[in-house]
Amino acid sequence: MRDVSFDTLAVHQSLKGKSHFTSKATPIYQTSSFSFRNLDELESYFEGETPYLYTRYGNPNTDELGSAVATLEGAESGVAASSGMSAILAGILAVAKNGDHIVACDDLYGGTYHLLDAELKNFGIAVSFVSFGNEQEIREAIRENTKLLYTETITNPFLRAENIKKLVDIAREHSLFSMVDNTFATPYVLQPYKDGVDLVVHSATKYLGGHSDVSAGVIAGSETLIQSVRQKIISLGANLSPFEAWLTCRGIKTLALRMEKQNQNAQFMADQLKQNANINKVYFPEFVSEKGNGAIVTIELSSQCDIRTFFASLGWIKIVPSLGGVETSVSYPLGTSHRNLPLEAQEKLGINDRVIRISVGIESSKEIVNQLLSAIEASLI
Ligand SMILES: *Cc1c(COP(=O)(O)O)cnc(C)c1O
Repeated sequence: MRDVSFDTLAVHQSLKGKSHFTSKATPIYQTSSFSFRNLDELESYFEGETPYLYTRYGNPNTDELGSAVATLEGAESGVAASSGMSAILAGILAVAKNGDHIVACDDLYGGTYHLLDAELKNFGIAVSFVSFGNEQEIREAIRENTKLLYTETITNPFLRAENIKKLVDIAREHSLFSMVDNTFATPYVLQPYKDGVDLVVHSATKYLGGHSDVSAGVIAGSETLIQSVRQKIISLGANLSPFEAWLTCRGIKTLALRMEKQNQNAQFMADQLKQNANINKVYFPEFVSEKGNGAIVTIELSSQCDIRTFFASLGWIKIVPSLGGVETSVSYPLGTSHRNLPLEAQEKLGINDRVIRISVGIESSKEIVNQLLSAIEASLI
């Protein structure tokens, strides 16, 4: 690049080096597209020999995330998406089309409930919501055009641990696909693909990322199914950006450490809060796996507590309508995640103005519990 002007140099000077200098961390491929030295190289992309053309179709960072989650889930393949919601939508559209029907659990993440209830009908896909705790209800909801059974491994906010093996049995009996949202359990606690679930989806925004600094989704399954999901993500433009993928991969490196500590802290909290006279109910699963029961604890405060004062007295525990970060936070399902559910559905699930969901972090277990207890104390009427 000797005989070129300053103007040209300014554009091209930084593009010289091709090597990654054996960087220990994966570099961030912050690029919209990939370049080719000649037409043979371009042709080799379309023959499947060169992996990358355009970031919406695929990028080394998003691929690293997809394959990391596939590996942790014990699945053949995985693909990243721009959010948990887009991963769920792409997964559903890969197995269901206009005229099809889905049977879904009635105790789902609010955003998923809305997608299934309000949006999918515009795609001509019908959904029946039933209690997945009741096998008979699932069977009775299956129709001739049913394609998919959909649930979450640990439900939100009441943390019911679903019987995934039973679900897989029913799906296989009726030749249906099964899809499970494993966000709350994470592959550290449960690996539903190994039990025969076809598609396992994650909001990587939560525990996989783990630091509340990224919005991302991932879906894992067989090579063939993930191929179709990938095609949907490409067509919907629901791809994840390289930097978000990079951050999520970085988070995953400490998933085991974080989940071990957060699961232990949550167990400790559930045990402690059960003894508290000002708490009506503590929702926490009895047994999810040998690795733990997840890191969310949901409580219902007694009528002795003023809810507004409780939320205003939490000290370093933040009020956050999300979960899964290293910091302990609390959310108010009635005011956020389940706000748009019909009153009837809220009542059926048990959501009321005293229900509080706690996402337990990695701080000292005793200090987390003390902080909560002092907020309860302060809120007594
Ligand atoms: C947050 C969440 C989602 C949605 O994920 P986004 O990353 O916010 O799109 C889906 N399912 C569960 C269980 C969640 O907690």
